[in-house]
Amino acid sequence: MASRATSLTMPAELPPATLRLSIDREALAANWRALDRLSGQAAAGAAVKADAYGLGVAVAAPVLRDAGCRDFFVAHWQEVPPLLDHVPAGSVAVLHGPVTAADAAFAKASGVRPVINSLHQARLWLEAGGGVCDVMVDTGINRIGLGLTDLTDPVLGQLQIDVLHSHLASADEDSALNAAQQNRWNAARGMVQHNRASLANSAGIALGAAYHGDLTRPGLALYGGVPCAALASEIRQVAAPEAALVQVRQIAAGESVGYNATFIAPQTMRIGVVSLGYADGYLRAWSGKGMLRSMGRPVPVLGRVSMDMTVVDLTAAPDLREGDWLTADYSLPEAAAATGLSQYELLTVLGLRFAR
Ligand SMILES: *Cc1c(COP(=O)(O)O)cnc(C)c1O
Repeated sequence: MASRATSLTMPAELPPATLRLSIDREALAANWRALDRLSGQAAAGAAVKADAYGLGVAVAAPVLRDAGCRDFFVAHWQEVPPLLDHVPAGSVAVLHGPVTAADAAFAKASGVRPVINSLHQARLWLEAGGGVCDVMVDTGINRIGLGLTDLTDPVLGQLQIDVLHSHLASADEDSALNAAQQNRWNAARGMVQHNRASLANSAGIALGAAYHGDLTRPGLALYGGVPCAALASEIRQVAAPEAALVQVRQIAAGESVGYNATFIAPQTMRIGVVSLGYADGYLRAWSGKGMLRSMGRPVPVLGRVSMDMTVVDLTAAPDLREGDWLTADYSLPEAAAATGLSQYELLTVLGLRFAR
C-alpha cells in the first residue's frame, strides 16, 4: 500500500512518445493563404472538424487564426470547447446544427453559430431563444440541409442568418451537377435574407468566382490534400508520420517477416522495427508497399503492417540504430494512389498515439 501511495503522489515522468506526427506549420499557413487568394473576393474559412482532419485542433487552429482565418467549421457540438481555447466563439459554426433542445441550449450559451439544416432545427433554435445562425440549403447532395421549398416556410423569416451555405457533391470532378447546384444556391440567395453566402469546399474554390460567394470552406487542401489538378501547384504537404526504431536485427536468407510470412528475405538483411502500426492509422494497405526514409534514404516496409509495429528494410541506411527516427512518405495524392484510400481517410485515421 505504501509504495502504491508513493507512486500515485510522485508519478514518474513520461518519456517522449516513439511516434509523432510532424506538422509543417508554415505549409499549413501557406495553404490557407493560397486558398484565401484563390477564393478571390471571398474570404477563406477553415473546416477544422474531426480534430482538424486528424492533425490536432490545438496545433492547427492557432496557425490558421494567425494566418488570418476568421471562420471555423466543426461538425459536432463536442468539438466546440477545444476549439474555443484558440478562437473566439463568434468565429465558429457547427455544421450538424441543433438536433436536440440540449444542442440548441449549448449553442445559445456558448455563442457559436448553429448551422440550421431543417425546419425542425429552425424551430429548436427559435425555442432556445434564437439569435444569429447559419443556414445550410441542400442543392443536390441530398445529405443534410433545407430544401429550396423549405425556404418559403415562415419560420425562415424569423431567423437571423449570417451565412447561407450549400455544399457541392462533385466539386472534385468536371460534373454538370456543379453548375446545377450553383444555380440553385443562387436561387436560394434570392429567397432568404442573409449576410454572407458560401458554397465552395477545397475543390469548389478551383471552380471559379461563380462558386465563391462571400466565404469559402476549405478543409482537405489546408492540410495538404489535392482534390483536383488545378490545386496541385498551390498546395504543400503538411503532415508526415514519424516513428522511432524500437529494434534492429539481422535475418538470414530464407527467413520470413511478420504475420503470415508474406516477405521472405532473399539474402542476409538488416531490418528494423518501428513503433507504427494499423492501430495508429498506418493501415495494412501499406503492407509490402509503404516507404519510410532516413535523411532521404529509402527504408521500405517489409511484409504485413501489424497493430503496433511495422518492419522495415535498413539496407540503404545501415548506420541506423534503436531510437533513431524514420519519416513515412505521406504525400496525400501519392499515398491515395498507392493505397486506394481517399486523401481524407489517410489523414483522419491517424491515431491518438501520435504526439502532435
Ligand atoms: C467537411 C466540409 C467542408 C470541407 O471540405 P473539403 O473537401 O475537405 O475541403 C466544407 N463544407 C462542409 C459543409 C463540410 O462538411
